[in-house]
Amino acid sequence: SSSRLPDVGTTIFTIMSQLAIEHGAINLGQGFPDFLPDAGLIDRVEAAMRAGHDQYAPMPGVPALRQAIAAKYQAHYGRSYDPDAHITITSGATQALMCAVFACTAPGDEVIVLEPVYDSYLPSIRLAGAVAVPVAMRKPTLEDPRYRPDWDAVRAAITPRTAAIMINFPHNPTGAILLEEDLDALESLVADSRITLISDEVYEHMVFDGEPHRSLATRPALAERAFVISSFGKALHATGWKIGWCCAPARLTAELRKIHQFMVFSVSTPMQHGIAAFVADPAVHDELPGFYQARRDHLAQGLAATRLRALPCPGTFFMLADYSDVSQLPQQEFVRWLTTEHGVTTIPVSAFMVVPERVEPRIVRLCFAKQTQTLDDAFGRLRAL
Ligand code: PMP
Ligand code: GLN
Repeated sequence: SSSRLPDVGTTIFTIMSQLAIEHGAINLGQGFPDFLPDAGLIDRVEAAMRAGHDQYAPMPGVPALRQAIAAKYQAHYGRSYDPDAHITITSGATQALMCAVFACTAPGDEVIVLEPVYDSYLPSIRLAGAVAVPVAMRKPTLEDPRYRPDWDAVRAAITPRTAAIMINFPHNPTGAILLEEDLDALESLVADSRITLISDEVYEHMVFDGEPHRSLATRPALAERAFVISSFGKALHATGWKIGWCCAPARLTAELRKIHQFMVFSVSTPMQHGIAAFVADPAVHDELPGFYQARRDHLAQGLAATRLRALPCPGTFFMLADYSDVSQLPQQEFVRWLTTEHGVTTIPVSAFMVVPERVEPRIVRLCFAKQTQTLDDAFGRLRAL
């Protein structure tokens, strides 16, 4: 029988979460909080349901929610998006990303992605009939122990067929963030080109050590050719609610909505009303960087008492750790062993790699969107390694 994705299996997140359940392991793998969203948010969703918001939402999204998102971009990034012409509510960032790829590519076009690459990008590109061109990020060195985008390598990968560059900062899984010089480089890369930017900013409120999140929305020359995509899953500690959005100029939004309206038509109405009421004040996001920085620091301190070596984490709710002092197993075998024998589940970074030769030998990803007690329990187990 035929298949659009012949070599795609079950996602690593599903596999590892299932294995964690089977073995009663502490799940620091798949990225989701193990604590409840704000009680005020839950009240507002409940109120929306009791108010009878039960039927189809408008195709582009509930107006109040699009207005709240517009207010947030104005307050945080100084950019005014028009809720009607520029903002579309989607079923999480995943659906926005898929729609954006379809909206700006034709079969045979090339889409540059940065490797390590989030798992949904390649299948989305493939389903659209386009071709993914993976460009490696710069790995940590002694002089600069951070993962960094390599814009020279991106420039070298651009061809007349390049329709889009798809980026994700703060970056899952490396935690890399954008600096001003990155926005400068990106501006000069796409100037005078037909390249569309797809910017996955789902970790926009998880940037640490006093750095701002540098959204593509902060730069007119980037925003005018960008799909800027994010999700309430991370910001509201509710990954299962699956409400995301896409901000883009009118011509890109028009194309995106043609696809969105036949992929899902519209997304959950009561959720949109409830979230709109909660996020109407853009300041609701202000405590997130501190909230997650404290968890990041707790994880780093806990790992310091183990033989796992934490890598720097400027953003996201993921931390990478080097396990070469513990084991020489390849990543996929190590994460199974750690789950089954020691009861802690992590994610192999190799799952984000396209080019096998580029896989770093002994690195795994840990999620710190967890209660202190959960992390402490994991430290107890990891100290035994
Ligand atoms: N992009 C990245 C980089 C992610 O890590 C995730 C998942 N958490 C998503 C997109 C998907 O977001 P959503 O759950 O809103 O679909
Ligand atoms: N984005 C989450 C992660 O990286 C997983 C989401 C999913 O399971 N699809 O862990």
